[in-house]
Amino acid sequence: MWGLGFGSWDLGLGIWDLGFPLALSVACRTKLSRRQYPGDTAISVRSRALGGHQMIRIARPIAAGVLFVLLLSATAAAQQQPARSIVNITGQLYRAQNDNHYTVFLVTSEGVIMSDPINRDFSRWLKNEISTRFRVPVRYVVYTHRDWDHASGGVVFADTAQFVGHINMLAGLAPPEGNPPMPSADAALDANRNGVIERAEAKGNSAIAQRFDLFDYNHDGIVNSAEVARGSVNDVYAPTVTYSGAHEITLGGKRVRMLPLGAAHSDDSVVLHFPDERAVFSADILQVKRLPQGLTPTVGAYIDAMKTINAIDYDHALTGHALAGRKQDALDLQRYLEELAIGVAAGVGAGKSLADIQRTLTLDSFKGFERWDMVRVGHIASVYATLKGTTAQTGTR
Ligand SMILES: [Zn+2]
Repeated sequence: MWGLGFGSWDLGLGIWDLGFPLALSVACRTKLSRRQYPGDTAISVRSRALGGHQMIRIARPIAAGVLFVLLLSATAAAQQQPARSIVNITGQLYRAQNDNHYTVFLVTSEGVIMSDPINRDFSRWLKNEISTRFRVPVRYVVYTHRDWDHASGGVVFADTAQFVGHINMLAGLAPPEGNPPMPSADAALDANRNGVIERAEAKGNSAIAQRFDLFDYNHDGIVNSAEVARGSVNDVYAPTVTYSGAHEITLGGKRVRMLPLGAAHSDDSVVLHFPDERAVFSADILQVKRLPQGLTPTVGAYIDAMKTINAIDYDHALTGHALAGRKQDALDLQRYLEELAIGVAAGVGAGKSLADIQRTLTLDSFKGFERWDMVRVGHIASVYATLKGTTAQTGTR
C-alpha cells in the first residue's frame, strides 16, 4: 500500500490549515509527489520495484487533472490518515511531510541525518520508509527547536541515533519547578479552584485538554502551573549532543551545519545548513509566502534570525510548515519584517496612534502571503508595544 502525498500550494491556499483531509492511502504501485517550488510543475514518480526516483515533467493542466481524479478516489477511511509524502529536493536531500509539518533528511552511505521527528506515529512511518528505500539507519536527529509539535517522537530513532540540539533545549525540557502564575486561559479550566488542572477539568479545545499527557510530567493526572510553563514536551527526546555556537556534523562524507538563530520564536532555534546541497531548513522562523504567527520576543529578533539565515549562500529554503521555496522567498520574508519595523517606527515617530498605523501601514506587497489578513494588525501592535516599552505580543509557530 502506497500513500499519495501532495504539496498544498497547487491545491489552493492553506488546505492543511483548513484540516482538509488529503491523505490518500490509495492502493497504488507508484507514488506521486509534488516538488514544492512555485512554478515548478514536475511531478516525481517513484516505484517500489525500481526503488529509484525519477522526475517526469508534465503540463500543469494534466497534473491538475491527475490530482483531481486522485482526490475523487479518496476513501473515507483514507481521509483519517495524515497527509504524508517524501519529496526529493536535490542530491540525497529529501523533505518529508506530516500534514502541515515538515522535516528533512540527508541520506549518506553510513546512515541518515534527519531533522525534526515531529511525532511518534510519523517517526515510525518515516523510519520504515527510510529503511525500505535506502537500507541505512538514522544516525542523527537534529532538532530545529524544542516545540512539541516539531520535536516529539524522537525515541523511535533512539536505537540508532544521536540527538543533536541547541544547549538551551535542556533547560526547556528539564523537570518542572517552582510555582509560576498560571496563564489566565488555563486557570479558567480550574473549576474547583485548587490551583491545578485535574484531568477531568481539562476540557474543550485548550492545549491542556488536547495534550494532557504531554504536559503531565510526573503522570499524576494533574497538571500544575510549573507543568504548564514547561509545555507539552513530555515526548521530546532530550538531545544527547548539545552546542551553543555554530556546530557541524559529518557522516558518510556529507556535512550539516547548525547555526543558532538567537531569541526569535524560542531561545533554542537553529537553522540547518546543507552546504553541498545548497539548502537550509528551519521551522517556524523561516517561512515561504507565509507570515509568522507571532513575533516573540521582538520583531528585531526575527530580523536578526532572518539575517543569519540569509547570510548563508544557498538556493533551497526548506521550511517546517507549508511551502518550501528559494532564497528569494526568505529574502522576501526578511523584507516584510523590516518594512513592518520601519513602518511602525515611522508612525510612532510621527506621533500616530496604534489604530492609525494599523490603518495606514497596509504592507500591501505581502497580500499574497498566507496569514497576511490574519496577522498584519497583530504584528503592528506587537512592534508598537516593543517600541513603546509595553508588553510584547506572544505567540508561536
Ligand atoms: Zn511549528
